[in-house]
Amino acid sequence: MGLDDSFTSHWRKVWSLRIAPKISLFLWKYQHDILPIQKVLNSRVPLKFSPNCSLCGIEEESRAHLFWNCYLVRKVWIVFLDWWSLNRNVMNGHGDLFLLFRCLKGVALREAWHTSVIALLWTIWLARNERIFSKQDWNEEKLVWLIKIRAFEWLLAAGKMARGLESLWKVNPRGSCLLFNKKHKGRDFIWCNTNFIGYSDGSWKLLPDNSVRCGVGCCITDLEDNLIFIFSSPGKANSPLEAEREALLFLYTQIIQSSQLHGIFTLCTNSKVLEKQFLKARAGYKEEESLNILEDWENLVKDKRFKIQFVFRDKLIGADSLAKDGGKRKKMMQAWC
Ligand SMILES: [Zn+2]
Repeated sequence: MGLDDSFTSHWRKVWSLRIAPKISLFLWKYQHDILPIQKVLNSRVPLKFSPNCSLCGIEEESRAHLFWNCYLVRKVWIVFLDWWSLNRNVMNGHGDLFLLFRCLKGVALREAWHTSVIALLWTIWLARNERIFSKQDWNEEKLVWLIKIRAFEWLLAAGKMARGLESLWKVNPRGSCLLFNKKHKGRDFIWCNTNFIGYSDGSWKLLPDNSVRCGVGCCITDLEDNLIFIFSSPGKANSPLEAEREALLFLYTQIIQSSQLHGIFTLCTNSKVLEKQFLKARAGYKEEESLNILEDWENLVKDKRFKIQFVFRDKLIGADSLAKDGGKRKKMMQAWC
């Protein structure tokens, strides 16, 4: 059987990731299902090797079991896919490396996604080996933490990530990739008379049981695109527009409460309506709606250090996924970088 073009080009991508040769070799063996797993060892030397999974000890250790179906590994995949804001049906590809790679497209994200998938498989493999040789105990949090660190360090070593983005990476890999790319591929905005840029987004979703899932997310950068602050929290809004406003006002209150940020701020939202409301209010028009106008909103309108700017969602530096993530959180997460 010859190697067809797409097959070799797939492997070329893997070799181009600049990961250690032993990891490339591991991937090769993984993809061809020739790793020395218990099932194989047991079939060769039945008296010396148990066929059972090294992690759970219950089921037979096949490639599919060890990397996908083992209960611990399944939990790892679920947290991992949530981290990348991906649907769980990604897990239906039966473990084919290249099908997995194809789940996320887009130049800015692709390499980080591939690296993360490889970090996951490699981490499971190391965890399995350490379980055998030093009886190391694992849980999914520990494993996912290792995956995040490993993938980040590999990307850093390959010059595809910046050290300052580590805290964003751990909660929002897409946002950190977008920010990294924006920084290194040139800007598409001209920011006039601004010292800091804030990005905010609200996510608001009516669930099938009629309950609401609302989240807010923000980040702040300086003009060199250095990340200064990130935030993700459940929200209280009653509509998508209110969620956008809640996120924007949260960003505003964080800035005025902080003692480290001084200057002129441009706050970005992807709600054109909110931008319009703000501009009208600043121009002195009274709100037509009988919305209960929040005190923070009135303060923001009066505060001349702040401007509001509409941007498209893909320019929000990951505030959108921080908002989505916030909707699933029990409590808020914030970090000054
Ligand atoms: Zn197992």
